Amino acid sequence: MTIDHNWREATNLVHGGTQRSAFGETSEALFLTQGYLYDSAEAAEARFKGEDDGFIYSRYGNPTNAMFEQRMCLLEGAEDARSTASGMAAVTAAIGCQVQAGDHILAARALFGSCRWVVEKLMPRYGVSCTLVDGRDIEAWKAAIRPETKVLFLETPTNPTLELVDIRAVADLAHENGAKLVVDNVFSTPLFQKPLQLGADIVVYSATKHIDGQGRCLGGVILGDKEWIDENLHDYFRHTGPSLSPFNAWNLLKGLETLPVRVEKQTANAGQLADFLADQDKVSWISYPGHASHPQAELAARQMTGGSTLIAFELKGGKQAAFAFENALKLVGISNNLGDAKSLITHPATTTHKNLSDEDRAALNISDGLLRISVGLEDVNDLMEDLGQALQASG
Ligand SMILES: *Cc1c(COP(=O)(O)O)cnc(C)c1O
Repeated sequence: MTIDHNWREATNLVHGGTQRSAFGETSEALFLTQGYLYDSAEAAEARFKGEDDGFIYSRYGNPTNAMFEQRMCLLEGAEDARSTASGMAAVTAAIGCQVQAGDHILAARALFGSCRWVVEKLMPRYGVSCTLVDGRDIEAWKAAIRPETKVLFLETPTNPTLELVDIRAVADLAHENGAKLVVDNVFSTPLFQKPLQLGADIVVYSATKHIDGQGRCLGGVILGDKEWIDENLHDYFRHTGPSLSPFNAWNLLKGLETLPVRVEKQTANAGQLADFLADQDKVSWISYPGHASHPQAELAARQMTGGSTLIAFELKGGKQAAFAFENALKLVGISNNLGDAKSLITHPATTTHKNLSDEDRAALNISDGLLRISVGLEDVNDLMEDLGQALQASG
């Protein structure tokens, strides 16, 4: 689709990528179709030859999905995109499509649990080795890179402790080595951090999180330059089928319309709660990228334009206090999900990160007293009162 206008971000999120059918519908149409009809045998032949770029089969292309992908490209400043059934489908395809036996993956050790499983456990089954480093330490990345390193992979801020990785520095290292940098940008949201502008080659999202933002459906997206997608992802995607349902693509398109309003409000709420938690005697430390106490506040200011909708904090009383705190909450729900309009809290050590060894958890600062809260759209005073009374009850 050609873009003949230069709208700003919020406008693109409402209008970008829209392709109206002959009915002139205001809301984007939901094309629940598997396939497409051709006017003639010759037309079918031409489409399969790539001589015209119409749709062939919804495993690899659908008008509703195309609208979502186009809107994401405008948001990210990417040339092309593929939408996927989940964030994990996006991560697995983005990495899997560009490696082969003998290659090496270099990744930050602080990763979303399933992402870590993909690089650390799954890829080695196919002869692709993997090294994990402390993502904050650029010297550690430099020491671990090898001639056969094809992909560098990181998320920033990290789950669950909201540490940061310097995208520009890791991208430069990747390029000196002829490798590609893949960034999982879920925690910062596409609004507050633009990895492609910071030198990353490929950006992936779990659209399940802030892009849907209302806890309804799973989805994901992979964004990059057209040449990389054509040469690496296109065939992999087409033949392995990690495709997004058009129904979910439609949900996510509607989610994008309200993304700035929601994320800005959730981030403002999170900033206030971070200040509140930092002042509490029962809290030993908090981690919030928009807070002056963050050890990498300078990097946060350099590569992010907003804080986060998530806060990590540690209770002094360990697991017992953390569980008592969670159980006392009346408004905030206990759930491992994030980015929802509803505030949610999780105890990483016994849920999302329970599969790590004690040693790996310790290296990531995931103590028994650590909690991660995903801040929603409720009135911040109600949230503060809920956290306050739960702290009282936590012993
Ligand atoms: C949730 C999440 C994923 C996985 O996304 P799904 O949509 O649940 O498959 C990957 N990376 C990060 C950082 C996430 O938060």
